[in-house]
Amino acid sequence: MPADSILQSPIEYLKGVGPQRGDLLRKELNIHTFGDLLQHFPYRYVDKTRVFPISAITPHMDTVQVRGRLIELEESGIQKAKRLNGILQDDTGTLDLIWFQGVQWAKKGLTKGGEYLVFGKVTWFKNRAQITHPEIEPVDTENVGGKNFLEPVYPTTEKLKQKFITGRAIGKLVAALLPQLSPSDLPEFMPVSVLQQMGLMQRFDAIRHIHFPPNMDLANAALNRLKFEELFLVQLRLNEVKIKRHRTSRGVVFPTVGENFNTFYNHHLPFPLTNAQKRVIKEIRSDTARGHQMNRLLQGDVGSGKTIVALLCMLIAIDNGFQCCLMAPTEILARQHFEGISELLKPMGVPVRLLTGSTRTAERRELLEAAADGSLPILLGTHALIEDTVQFKKLGFVVIDEQHRFGVEQRAKLWQKADIPPHVLVMTATPIPRTLSMTLFGDLDCSVMDELPPGRKPVTTVHRLESARHNVMEFARQQIDLGRQVYIIFPLIEESEKMAYENLMRGYENVKAFFPEPRYWISMVHGKMDPAEKDTNMMRFKNGETQIMVSTTVIEVGVNVPNASVMIIESAEKFGLSQLHQLRGRVGRGSEQSFCILMTGHKLTAEARERLKIMCQTNDGFKIAEKDMELRGPGDIEGTRQSGLLNFKLASLVNDSALMEQAQRMALQILEKDIELMMNENLPLRYHLLNQKGKTEWSKIS
Ligand code: ADP
Ligand code: MG
Repeated sequence: MPADSILQSPIEYLKGVGPQRGDLLRKELNIHTFGDLLQHFPYRYVDKTRVFPISAITPHMDTVQVRGRLIELEESGIQKAKRLNGILQDDTGTLDLIWFQGVQWAKKGLTKGGEYLVFGKVTWFKNRAQITHPEIEPVDTENVGGKNFLEPVYPTTEKLKQKFITGRAIGKLVAALLPQLSPSDLPEFMPVSVLQQMGLMQRFDAIRHIHFPPNMDLANAALNRLKFEELFLVQLRLNEVKIKRHRTSRGVVFPTVGENFNTFYNHHLPFPLTNAQKRVIKEIRSDTARGHQMNRLLQGDVGSGKTIVALLCMLIAIDNGFQCCLMAPTEILARQHFEGISELLKPMGVPVRLLTGSTRTAERRELLEAAADGSLPILLGTHALIEDTVQFKKLGFVVIDEQHRFGVEQRAKLWQKADIPPHVLVMTATPIPRTLSMTLFGDLDCSVMDELPPGRKPVTTVHRLESARHNVMEFARQQIDLGRQVYIIFPLIEESEKMAYENLMRGYENVKAFFPEPRYWISMVHGKMDPAEKDTNMMRFKNGETQIMVSTTVIEVGVNVPNASVMIIESAEKFGLSQLHQLRGRVGRGSEQSFCILMTGHKLTAEARERLKIMCQTNDGFKIAEKDMELRGPGDIEGTRQSGLLNFKLASLVNDSALMEQAQRMALQILEKDIELMMNENLPLRYHLLNQKGKTEWSKIS
């Protein structure tokens, strides 16, 4: 946009605005310039394209435009309770008009017997249609055929409304601005090839028509163009980063698959891999052989077997003379990985060590030395791994488990530990909808493991009311008596840690009353506990010394106790869908049939009911993630809240996934031919992007 463009004009200079309203528009809606106003889009239109006969008004109509003669106009009531009643009549019938407010003012503008054009929201009273506080104006030569347009309604705020800048008044401002613009003020920047393939409306027309569409078809075409534009620009940026990294980043090369991998694969693999596991290993294998840094996100539902994939890839790195590390978000998880991986590698004689906050000084020193002199091939740990004291001789492969708990900077620190950045595999069991990952992680390569190992029985999920508590506990007892273990989860109460704690304690006492010692033993874990105590309790449950784990959501991620077959979630309505799914993933890890019981009281919101229903219907994490986004909106999905990438004005990650796919395809088509956007047809796009830069905050993973 050239600096002298009319779009840069301060908003107060627009006719009908002025300094005071200008100030409000700036503060309330972030509208500083004419251009900003154009980017403030209506969210719906009021149909004023038709004038209805009064007899055609039906209860299904929301608003209606009619024309008729005001045959009655009468004031009634006294002082504060004054009202004005009118009756409008056309050839087909009559309609009541009512004013409770501004009676004097309304009366002044109206004449009994005059002909009027009336618009408003229809309500029904004693089987008669009526409009309260209608828009009403005398019929003259200009409006005799009705107003004939789709009137835009804009988002506004309470403060603005008080100053009469209502959702519809903003339309009047836009209407004042549009005639001052010519196509050169809103030049097209979309390459012709994209416009043609997508059949898109020109930019200038799209902006005009989204504000004042001649009909709904054109309104939709304008909306489609502008949504596509938003998605396309984001996809361009993300894929530019990705393609450039593919082409130009330096990365260590793993040319061979050697003895470690082969021996393990052929002799020590405890089970055949699923096809999804094989596919992901192939993807990583080809990434790491090319000489560019891999940045791969592996999404796999709980229990899909990500650990073994990570291990096999680490063996490839070791075969090529590199060291590896794996970082987990908690001590328990790190230790679990350590135990599992040590066990698997025992017959191979590959050294594995664990570094956490509680690693003793002497051991730590020895272990750091081994990492630094290159003699230690695999180091596992918590974020203790990113401390400066941890140095590797030849770090080639980094695995980060349960990604969403780590900050971007923390991760970057890990790969600064090598001259050439190591390959990075980020693993997460929080499935996110495809549109969201295309946006948030569009600059990463993504792998999805959409298959569970064979023989897993899907967890049976039921919803039970408080009144069934006794039966639920009896059921848990049966399971325990069969040798199984049980989780009982209490919600974190966000407003008050104290309340959460008391709630948990009360729950614990109740559980204890059902399951008395010494026949039953209970572990408890909560956020207020010190880490060592937490660990002890966790380990006792893991080792089968306790049969019941009472806990807040701290055990959410990754903990593996295959013998646990019952997950009872208290106040289940307080949990989000993906959290419920994560919790459910703690059971169903063994060969026994497992159960998830969602406990709630009788009173539930419609949304909570919907969540519980979905949980009972499906075990598919991706389906649940889609639903979750649908119910809560993308901004609330865990870990995405701060991302500027999600601030689409028009496009919706829930409803526009097809358009997003197309936008990505078009972006790739352009970038693969012309990554710098230097070809003539792409230059306008290049300039548009340059102008936009700095306006969006880009959250980067890598
Ligand atoms: P997650 O993806 O949730 O991290 P894990 O890697 O912890 O899952 O694997 C869950 C369980 O499934 C582990 O006990 C693991 O040994 C087992 N497992 C993994 N892959 C397979 C497979 N292909 N066949 C059978 N069991 C498997
Ligand atoms: Mg895991």
